[in-house]
This record gives sequence, C-alpha cells and structure tokens, in this order.
Amino acid sequence: MEIGLQHLTKVFPGKGRKNKNKEVVAVDDFNFVIPDGKLVGLLGPSGCGKSTTLNMISGLLKPSAGKIFFGDKEVTCLPPEERGVGMVFQNYALYPHMSVEQNIRFPLENLKGDQKLDPNQMKERVEEAAKLVKIEGLLDRKPGELSGGQQQRVAIARALVKLPRVLLLDEPLSNLDARLRLQTREEIRRIQQKTGITTVFVTHDQDEAMSISDLIVVMKDGVLQQIDSPQNVYDDPANQFVAQFLGTPPITLYDGRIEQGKLWIGNDAVLDVDQKQDQNVVIGVRPEGYILKENGHLHNEFVRTEVMGRDMSVLSKNTACQAPFVRSILSTEHLHLLQDNQAVFDLKPHKVFLFDVNDGQRLRYALSAIAESRDLE
Ligand code: ADP
Ligand code: MG
Repeated sequence: MEIGLQHLTKVFPGKGRKNKNKEVVAVDDFNFVIPDGKLVGLLGPSGCGKSTTLNMISGLLKPSAGKIFFGDKEVTCLPPEERGVGMVFQNYALYPHMSVEQNIRFPLENLKGDQKLDPNQMKERVEEAAKLVKIEGLLDRKPGELSGGQQQRVAIARALVKLPRVLLLDEPLSNLDARLRLQTREEIRRIQQKTGITTVFVTHDQDEAMSISDLIVVMKDGVLQQIDSPQNVYDDPANQFVAQFLGTPPITLYDGRIEQGKLWIGNDAVLDVDQKQDQNVVIGVRPEGYILKENGHLHNEFVRTEVMGRDMSVLSKNTACQAPFVRSILSTEHLHLLQDNQAVFDLKPHKVFLFDVNDGQRLRYALSAIAESRDLE
C-alpha cells in the first residue's frame, strides 16, 4: 500500500499561560510518497517530529493541515481502526495477565461485521503470526516469562495478526540491549521482506535506519531534510546536518575556504575546486576519505592510532578542524607512512563535501586532486 503525504503539517499549541504563544510546528509541510512494499526509515534526533508523523499516518493524531493517502484513497479523516494499520511501540505494552496467545489474538476479538472470525480462524491466524516472528513455542507463556526480545516479537505478531496493509513501528528496539537490537532489527527486515507489507520504521539511530531501510527520510525540527536510499543519503548528503547525522565515525568538519580555484584548510591547498569566486566554506571529510601520503597536501598533527582489526583509526589534529580530533579510517598497510609528529594526507574528492557557512546547504562545486603540473609553475 503506497502512502502519500501532501502538505502534511502538525502544529501543537503552546501549553500553560507562559507558553501560550509558543506553538510547536512538530511536522512542517511534508510532501513525500512511501512506496508500496518498502521499508522506510524515519530518522532524526529526538523531538524532530517522527512520532507525530507516524501517529498522523496511523490516525491516532489529526493533522493541522494537509492530506494522507493510502493508495488512491484519502484517509486523512478515517479513524485508526478503518485504516488497516498495525502498530508497534517502544514500550510494547503487552497485557501481563494474558498468555502470549491471548495477547496476539486480542485485536481479532473485536472485529465486526464481515471481518468477524470464528475461534478456529482466530487460532489459525494467531499461529501464523507467531510462526512468522518465530515464537510459536511460547504461546502458553505469560509476557513476564519472556525476554525483552521475545516480548517485542509478541508485540510485532499482535500488530501483524489483523493482516494490516501498513505496519508502523515507533522506536521498537529502544528497550532492547545492544545484541538483541541487532538481532531484532534483522528479524523485522526479514518479516517485512517476507510479507511485503509497507512499513514505516521510526528511529533516532542512524545505524539502525541505514541497515534495514529501503529509503531513509531524514528530519530535523519538523522539517524534511532528505529522502533517499541509505547509500545516497551517506554518499550525497543534501546539507551539513544530514552529513553529520549519518556515519560512524562521523564526518569531520573544517573551517575552510576557496581561493583561486583551490580548496584550503589552514595553509594547505588540499584539492582543486571548480569555482572561481573566493569564499569561506565548511569542508566535510568522511573518515574513509583520507589517504596517507608522503607528499600529501593536508598536514595534520599526529595524535595516535587505534587498531580496529583489518583497519585502523588514525587520530590527528588540525587547528581548522571544528572538533578536537580528526578521525580517519585507513588500512593498516599504510601505517609506516605516519611521519614522526605528522599525519600527511591526500583527500579523496568524492569523500569531501562543501557546505555554505551560513545555512549549511551543500555547495556542489566539482572537486578534484590538485593538478601537479600547475604546482610546478
Ligand atoms: P520524535 O518522535 O521525533 O522524538 P515528536 O513527534 O514526539 O518527536 O515531537 C515533535 C515535537 O512536538 C516536539 O517538540 C514535542 O515536544 C512536540 N510535541 C509532541 N507531542 C506533543 C503534544 N501532545 N503537545 C505539545 N507538543 C507536542
Ligand atoms: Mg518519538
């Protein structure tokens, strides 16, 4: 089921006398389509409007403006139960006194009219859903007798048992420990691919969003920043916020400038840039964008190395860097190129992004390695 959002907006009024005029624009004019059968990650820091967006899609929250479509049909004014959505929340809220089986069956018991099921049909549906999330052996247990990961599977089964057209997950893994989080997110991906159900997955964890989404929607302060495949969001960020929000270790930012067709960090001309006009810019370099090189162009002060198995992380310093340290990921083979107190690098042009110093928008000037012939002039 394709989900279309048109000018979707939610404004919360300010609370209390003091804040009467401080309304919050939680979701600001969203226009995008969630394609049928895909898993879409809504990603952004806490408070950026992810849950608000999800709750408007589910029907739990009424938009202040704009429309929501499921396929060709407008559902903006439909109540949640008529939208055919399954929801899973962070606190999975299972009924503690009911068995797993009863918990999963619960949504089926209130079905009315031609949707009504007889006990045998319900049993079949519950068993199917339990099997899908691999808890068919636990149906007689109470939630208190399950691990956190198993409880979350029950919650997912409960959301799937009505065969929803859309599955909405709001930070479903936050209550799980690190290892279970990894496992469960792969499980969610598997279930989504097996059922082909259109799924919206809310998370503030970029790693989580990157690993399981077909498409990522990056949000900040209620404003859509970028919607793209995980790889494109990483390789081709729309602005400085997106570039900084995605990637571990994070991108390093330098205060730099363009002068006479070269890109400068401090006293180092590091790349050629196809832009005649001199200007200050913010330069972002992905950690894998550095190459250790004897006669490289960027001169950083070497701090230390941290081995990470096949690769190593080199920590260096540069006064133009906005953070205390520059972190670069390099192959251990190049370790010998570290010189006394210096880490001398060349930069891979496609791993370097330029941003406007005022608004952080991406400046798409073409970058290339410094042409050595011109160096000799
Ligand atoms: P997220 O899920 O991304 O953490 P939310 O969608 O919950 O963010 O919230 C977005 C913004 O809207 C926040 O500033 C939050 O304080 C505000 N907000 C959310 N719900 C309400 C509400 N019921 N009343 C007033 N403000 C709200
Ligand atoms: Mg939230």
